[in-house]
Amino acid sequence: MAAPLVRFLSKSVRQISRPPWGACQSGLRSRTTSAPAVAPNQAGGAVAFPPLQTYSEEESMMRDAVRKYAQERIAPFVPMMDENSAMDEEVIRSLFEQGLMGVEIDPEYGGTGSSFFSSILVIEELAKVDPSVAVLCDIQNTLINTLFVKLGTPAQKEKYLSRLSTDMIGSFCLSEAESGSDAFALKTRAEKHKDYFVINGSKMWISNAEHAGVFLVMANVDPSAGYRGITCFIMDRDTPGLEICKKENKLGLRASSTCPLNFDNVKVPEANILGEVGHGYKYAIGMLNEGRIGIAAQMVGLAQGCFDHTVPYTRQRVQFGKRIFDFQGMQHQIAHVATQIEAARLLTYNAARLKEAGRPFIKEACMAKYFSSEVATLTTSKCIEWMGGVGFTKDYPIEKYYRDCKIGTIYEGTTNVQLSTMAKFIDKEYDH
Ligand SMILES: Cc1cc2nc3c(=O)[nH]c(=O)nc-3n(C[C@H](O)[C@H](O)[C@H](O)COP(=O)(O)OP(=O)(O)OC[C@H]3O[C@@H](n4cnc5c(N)ncnc54)[C@H](O)[C@@H]3O)c2cc1C
Repeated sequence: MAAPLVRFLSKSVRQISRPPWGACQSGLRSRTTSAPAVAPNQAGGAVAFPPLQTYSEEESMMRDAVRKYAQERIAPFVPMMDENSAMDEEVIRSLFEQGLMGVEIDPEYGGTGSSFFSSILVIEELAKVDPSVAVLCDIQNTLINTLFVKLGTPAQKEKYLSRLSTDMIGSFCLSEAESGSDAFALKTRAEKHKDYFVINGSKMWISNAEHAGVFLVMANVDPSAGYRGITCFIMDRDTPGLEICKKENKLGLRASSTCPLNFDNVKVPEANILGEVGHGYKYAIGMLNEGRIGIAAQMVGLAQGCFDHTVPYTRQRVQFGKRIFDFQGMQHQIAHVATQIEAARLLTYNAARLKEAGRPFIKEACMAKYFSSEVATLTTSKCIEWMGGVGFTKDYPIEKYYRDCKIGTIYEGTTNVQLSTMAKFIDKEYDH
């Protein structure tokens, strides 16, 4: 069994230094994301801020360790996992071994005890190599673990956090066949009996369901109260009446399982309510707001991974007696895409830092997710063009990135939903 490299690094570094983000957290930073390029001793008395791409020692080590791990332990499995539409068990095992499935979980529960920003770096690094692996890690860290950490009773934390950090995958179950963007129109019903609920209904599109050991299921306990009846239930995989149906045959993200679920008189004890009855919609909104930053990181990593595979090819491929990289028509496109990726990364990191600092971040998270998805689409499409015919074949990974990126405009809120949310904030900003 390999050493839990990341967890190890993370723990040892934490004793040496804490992230240098106190200044940002003080709330003094202006709303612009650009940081002055001055060292503190050059600031002439003014407070100086680090550039957005400044990492704590812990974050740097985490990023470097995950980069190496992904190349060595995930990359060899990627083509086959895509071809077979199946996540390899060895990949899942190694993600747990490396402490990547419980990045923010306290070491008391076997987690890595790191930060939200570290989770974002982990997702980005994994997505460079395989966006399917990245989303497995993303949902676990930004949705499932966070919900348990924030809302779990001591007994729920004890039971689930220790498993989620070591060997159990969780799935987040909100969408239904008739409620996607309009998520709170969900029909799954939880009927109260003495000290338990009986759940009937179904879910669609549930990521990682094939391997999940626990499902966080949003169901309505009181349809007459509308969305205020929505409650979050913890449902174990082996609960009688829970059926995990055949996974979808998808365009991209093929190694990530996406399954419908059926609930046929599923009996769930009252003790398995996560948080408060009727507050499920708040939890779902809150988690998806944060989760979008994870999807933005997935899209940034995906775009960067695709770009990194493509640029070296343009530097080697010779046409008309010179490298295709040397044609100005190519250089301008390559520089444009590099700029877009950088901008997407900055939006994503800014949203993550805002969230970590406890400052408003919803609009910025929507912007990051929206923009990163657009950039991933542009990047992967351009990379295929730059590679010419071979970019269109499965001999290179570019066509896979092209297929994988499409999901960024759909899950955790479609592009239209992101734009509508941003517009609400913009509208308010101009209220007088
Ligand atoms: C691979 C994959 C994994 C997923 N994983 C999960 C998961 O783990 N858990 C989970 O709960 N769900 C998951 N989902 C579901 C996902 O969140 C939904 O697909 C998404 O929210 C969109 O819902 P929909 O598919 O019903 O599309 P619809 O809501 O029907 O949208 C169709 C189109 O209409 C547009 N539209 C809808 N309403 C409006 C509006 N008000 N204004 C403007 N345009 C609008 C949308 O932007 C979109 O373009 C996953 C989906 C996929 C494909």
